[in-house]
Amino acid sequence: MTKKDTKIAIFSGFVGIVFTAIYDLIKSRPILSTFWDGLKWIWKNIFEFELTVWQVLLALSILILILYLLSLRNNDDEVIENEFDWSSYDKDKIHNMEWSWYWEKNVLDGKWNVKDLRPICNSCGTKMHLSNSSWSSEYSECPRCELKYHEQKDLTKIEAVIIDNVQRGIYPKNIEK
Ligand SMILES: [Zn+2]
Repeated sequence: MTKKDTKIAIFSGFVGIVFTAIYDLIKSRPILSTFWDGLKWIWKNIFEFELTVWQVLLALSILILILYLLSLRNNDDEVIENEFDWSSYDKDKIHNMEWSWYWEKNVLDGKWNVKDLRPICNSCGTKMHLSNSSWSSEYSECPRCELKYHEQKDLTKIEAVIIDNVQRGIYPKNIEK
């Protein structure tokens, strides 16, 4: 045996004794056993925590799905709101003439009616006055620049086109700015 071998033998013996002592201590001492149980408890809880992570992920997935479905519902609501957008449709060029009107809801039947349908002056953009006299060739006159239109227009037809545009959803394409 060399000095080196002796050192290794002594060290191995010492390590063996220390480990055996620690093991005996764990077995014999309730406090250390409790500590060991504590380690096992922590490990078990870490494992359970991983399960909780999956549960959280599952809950998040369900939450995202619910939010997605809610967003779809909101989109439907937006479509319904868009259906009411036609109320901002109050100008259009029909039968080669610019028209302006406003929408009024009938209290009795809840239907929307075209009100105050009049041409717009091609020169200055002012809403024109309609001529009341049936014998006059004058159809409308601009109160601002006094431009006169002589071409007779059937307001019932113009209104029918406006309502048809709304019902068929083609009114935005007809708006000329
Ligand atoms: Zn004018």
